[in-house]
Amino acid sequence: MNKNHIALIDRLAETHTLPAENYLTLIRNLSDEEDAYLANCALKTKETHYGKQIFIRGLIEISNICKNDCYYCGIRASNRNCERYRLTEEEILSCCEEGYRLGFRTFVMQGGEDRFFTDDVLCDILHHIKAAYPDCAVTLSLGERSDISYRRLKKAGADRYLLRHETANPEHYRLLHPKKMLYLNRLRCLHVLRDVGFQVGCGFMVGSPFQTEEMLAEELRFIEAFKPDMCGIGPFIPHKDTDFRDFGAGSVRMTCRLLSCIRLIHPTVLLPATTALGTLHPQGREMGILHGANVVMPNLSPASVRKKYMLYDNKRSDGDESAQAIASIRARLESIGCTVSVSRGDIAAEEQ
Ligand code: SAM
Repeated sequence: MNKNHIALIDRLAETHTLPAENYLTLIRNLSDEEDAYLANCALKTKETHYGKQIFIRGLIEISNICKNDCYYCGIRASNRNCERYRLTEEEILSCCEEGYRLGFRTFVMQGGEDRFFTDDVLCDILHHIKAAYPDCAVTLSLGERSDISYRRLKKAGADRYLLRHETANPEHYRLLHPKKMLYLNRLRCLHVLRDVGFQVGCGFMVGSPFQTEEMLAEELRFIEAFKPDMCGIGPFIPHKDTDFRDFGAGSVRMTCRLLSCIRLIHPTVLLPATTALGTLHPQGREMGILHGANVVMPNLSPASVRKKYMLYDNKRSDGDESAQAIASIRARLESIGCTVSVSRGDIAAEEQ
C-alpha cells in the first residue's frame, strides 16, 4: 500500500477534513487494498457512533408528477412516456399503517414537484400521520418550496427534509438542469430548511454527465462545509427517455469510496445505501453498508405504482428493495454483522 495514501486516510479519519487536492488523490489513485483500508476506517467510525445498528426507513413515493425538467430524471415533466400517478391521502396513510406494522418508525414521503401537494394538503397528511404514529419520524423529499412552506411543514410535524443539491459546482448544475432551475435557489432551500429546524439531507449523483474527478473533490469539500444531517449519494443511471440516455452509469466502486470518505468527514451523518447502488449491483446495499452507510430505505409505495416511479432504467422496487421483504433484508444485514434498529433513527449526538 502507498504510505502517502494511507497517511491521507488516517488524517481524514482523525481531523475530518482534507484540502481538495488530497481528496483528488484519494478519488483518483486508491488500489483495491487501499480502498479496503478506507472502508474499514469508515466502518469503525460508523460503529463508534452507531454500533452495529442500521436504520430503516419506509419510502413512500407519493407522486411522479413533476413540474421540473431535470435532464437526468425519468419523471421529468417533458417525458411523455411516463405514466403519471398521485397517491391519495388515504393511500399514503395506509402505506404508513402497513409500514408501522412491518416495524418502520420513519416514513419518507418523496415525490416530484407536484402542485397538487399544497401546504394545506401536506399539513393535513402530516397531522394525520403524527396523530396516528407519534413515535415515528417523517422525512419529506418534495423538492424546492418557499420559506413559508418549509416553516409550515415543520410546524405540522415533519422532522427531516432531503433535498439533494445534485452537484456543488454551479456550472455543472446548469448542464444538468434547465435554465430556470437555479443552483443558488437549491442552496437557499437547504439553508432555510436548516434554519426552520429540520434535520437536513443533501446529496449528489456519482458519475452524472459532465462530472469530473475535480468536481467530486469539490463535493467532499461541500459536505465538510455544509455538514448535513443526512447525505444521499448514489450512482447516476441513465433513463431511456431522457437526453442523457447514452451516458454511462456511475461506478459502484467510486460511490462506495465516496461513502467512506463522507463517513470520515462527518462521523455521525445518516448515510443511506441507496436504491441506485442496489440497482447497479446485486450486493450494492451490503457494499454500501460495509463502506460506512447506516441507513436503508426500502420501498413502501403501493405495488401498483412502484414501476411508475422510474427515475432511471431498471430501478429496483422488488425483492429486497421492497419494505414487505423486511425479514429478508434483516437476514442479509445480519449476515454482514449488522442489526436492524427499531428506533426512529435520529442522528447521534456528537462527542465533545
Ligand atoms: N423532487 C424531489 C427533489 O427534487 O428533491 C425528490 C424526487 S427526485 C426524483 C429524487 C432524486 O432522484 C434526485 O435528487 C436525484 O438525485 C435522483 N435521480 C433522479 N434521476 C436519477 C438518475 N437518472 N440516476 C440516479 N439518480 C437519479
